[in-house]
Amino acid sequence: MNAIVSDPELVRQASLHAIAAPAVEIRNAAMDYGGTVLALADVSLTLREGEFLSIVGPSGCGKSTLLKLISGLAAPAAGEVLVRGQRVTETPPGIGFMFQRDVLLPWATVRENIAVGLECAGHPAGTREQRVDELLKLIGLEQFGGYYPRALSGGMRQRVALCRILAYSPDIYLMDEPFGALDAQTKLLMGQELLSIWSRFRKGIIFVTHDIEEAVSLSDRVVVMTGRPGRIKSEYDIDLPRPRDSRHVRKLPAFHRYVDAIWNDIMSESVRAA
Ligand code: ADP
Repeated sequence: MNAIVSDPELVRQASLHAIAAPAVEIRNAAMDYGGTVLALADVSLTLREGEFLSIVGPSGCGKSTLLKLISGLAAPAAGEVLVRGQRVTETPPGIGFMFQRDVLLPWATVRENIAVGLECAGHPAGTREQRVDELLKLIGLEQFGGYYPRALSGGMRQRVALCRILAYSPDIYLMDEPFGALDAQTKLLMGQELLSIWSRFRKGIIFVTHDIEEAVSLSDRVVVMTGRPGRIKSEYDIDLPRPRDSRHVRKLPAFHRYVDAIWNDIMSESVRAA
């Protein structure tokens, strides 16, 4: 036991872990919209570097509002939000936002949509085309670079949207029900692709979803929120094997125990609200 604790490399890693600021830290945040609707009350939450964190909770409990606070699109009425130790007063650099709607430019081809992302990220013009090719390959859309968004399925459009975020190389991904509008099968495939991309880059992700199974199958940790005004009700460290095949993991008894526990938490909130 002593031999393990005194291993210099482990000690070095442990101290690095101890001093590294969390990617995101929310301290006692409250948020209202013009004073009439209290959306969040006293929320404290951290995202660790490289962590895949999901947030679930009843509709209207403030999940999207939480992402708005982190991205600087809204300011808390009380408490504070820190990204990499810096208090958020405007959109912090290195944040990538993905919504349920793909928000692609309809008049631009897939290539052009991705190139716009690269241009905004300040990627040098000379290597932009090559980078577009790499990203298209990464998401399996090499054949569709010349297509317009209207000619693509919902799943393909969301892949392009993901690709455009990857073009920014963000340090933190905020994903607001990114696969919520897709059919069940496409959603599963997209989740699997996201996991494989995440396992390569290991950037922190906050993933908002209504789908408890999706949250458990993808995440390191799942946070459950109460009904409005949203607070943190419970947190689950998801101790399931990595690398994770999100289809395989759904067959494990432990997966169903997590899903049941989270489902019970959300149901009790819905009953309380009713
Ligand atoms: P969730 O993402 O969990 O469904 P939201 O964060 O979108 O919840 O909303 C939380 C609460 O704040 C809801 O009651 C919603 O109606 C309200 N809300 C959200 N955006 C606005 C806004 N722009 N103006 C007024 N109320 C809002």
